[in-house]
Amino acid sequence: MKYVPVIGLEIHSELKTASKMFCNCLNDPEAEKSNVNVCPICMGHPGTLPVINQTALELVIRTGLALNCQIPKSAKFDRKNYFYPDLPKGYQISQYDLPLSGKGSLEIDQKKIRITRIHLEEDTGRLVHSTGAGYSLVDFNRAGVPLMELVTEPDIDSGQQARQFCEELQIILRYLQASEANMEKGQMRCEVNISLGADKRELGVKVEIKNLNSFRAVERSIDYEIKRQTDLLESGGKVVQETRGWDEIKQKTFSQRKKEGSADYRYFPEPDLPPLTNLADYSAKLKVGLPELPQAKRDRFLEEYKLPEADVNTLVTSKGLADYFEQVVSELTTWLKIKKIDDKQPLIKLTANYFLTELQKLLIASRTKVGDCKISAENFAEFISMIEQKDISSSAAQTVLKEMFETGTDPSEIVDQKQLKQVSDQGALEEIVNQVIKNNPRPVEDYKAGKENALQFLVGKVMAVSKGQANPEVVREILKDKLVK
Ligand code: ADP
Ligand code: MG
Ligand code: ZN
Repeated sequence: MKYVPVIGLEIHSELKTASKMFCNCLNDPEAEKSNVNVCPICMGHPGTLPVINQTALELVIRTGLALNCQIPKSAKFDRKNYFYPDLPKGYQISQYDLPLSGKGSLEIDQKKIRITRIHLEEDTGRLVHSTGAGYSLVDFNRAGVPLMELVTEPDIDSGQQARQFCEELQIILRYLQASEANMEKGQMRCEVNISLGADKRELGVKVEIKNLNSFRAVERSIDYEIKRQTDLLESGGKVVQETRGWDEIKQKTFSQRKKEGSADYRYFPEPDLPPLTNLADYSAKLKVGLPELPQAKRDRFLEEYKLPEADVNTLVTSKGLADYFEQVVSELTTWLKIKKIDDKQPLIKLTANYFLTELQKLLIASRTKVGDCKISAENFAEFISMIEQKDISSSAAQTVLKEMFETGTDPSEIVDQKQLKQVSDQGALEEIVNQVIKNNPRPVEDYKAGKENALQFLVGKVMAVSKGQANPEVVREILKDKLVK
């Protein structure tokens, strides 16, 4: 018997709006102090009325459009009633039968994963359980923050595919500036539904996994669950419908609660909010404003810049990084035109290499977002052209880039100040080489007698006399020439 994994995802994302979903409170669930971003509306005081946050509506529709979803003509909000201490109103405003966004899809590794729906709701507060205290605290800063829920069809068939779906969605949400979508911060929360079927069409009993706060946890919990359920079925057991958690330390899922029949939330239309109508016109306008999406950008980068796929993938992960890269390449293109050089490829490759190694290192080490990088595209391009022209050695380049990154200064200025300009001029170097040959007769004899090491020694001498500014490759060639004669 071969079992086929059947996986569907439910993904919540906190939307990046200035204010909360139905009130003027600051949307800052990470605020240092508890219960500072609260007001009578998000605290559910009697007599208050919610007002819809338009930006939140737009972000959900933009996400729907980016995921090829059908945007309905109209939608509405509904009340989902339940009691929990982090829910001050006693109900959550959500969407039941008329979500803002209908069927769509996202392609992962040439496979289309169907999206069932995307709807808009509000987040709950947060309970803080301190061990041994005998009581729990509640922080309402997050209560009423706009929350988008995306549900997929059970089209995913492995842990890796689920992980890729979540990663791609994160990139898209960031491109759309819909959400920061940081899983560690709970800005993006994935729930996995998984069952084993005898074949694709047959759906087995599903298990839900919650509390996944990294992409790795999504992948590993699925792999674990596939193995657990397979072993269970093969030994004649039965999978029970339940919610399981993920234990990061044991790398295991564990039973949290068995399904006690689906809760009755007594959904009904939110009487304090008007239905949302004329969405067709509205979404047509929003469609025009969509940015180029990650996959389209990857395809274009591969075509236009002819870089390896792995490099393109990394550049496109962040829209800021990709945009910055394109600005630098555009500056370089102008420079190449002036220099009447046709072949752009070496410079594009060199730029990509610096972006993916040195620049990334500097950004990560200083926790700087690429948008806040002090190096202008023009200066970055100049820097690349200096390396290309061998005006600076690769070790000097590191010093220059670091200084540019910290101060935003022109590379040529830094090179002058720190006397980093590499001397490649034949005449100037020959003079030093002659002097070094004259002062070091023994190594010269050694080299002539076949000791290759002696050449490196002489190159080192020239480098020292030039205070590190000589181009070692040119020096080596001059020395070789002279010592043969
Ligand atoms: P529930 O009512 O239990 O929340 P839904 O029908 O709303 O279930 O589906 C929730 C998620 O579970 C969706 O992502 C869906 O694709 C997925 N799902 C539904 N049935 C199965 C199944 N048998 N195996 C795996 N995933 C499933
Ligand atoms: Mg559900
Ligand atoms: Zn409020």
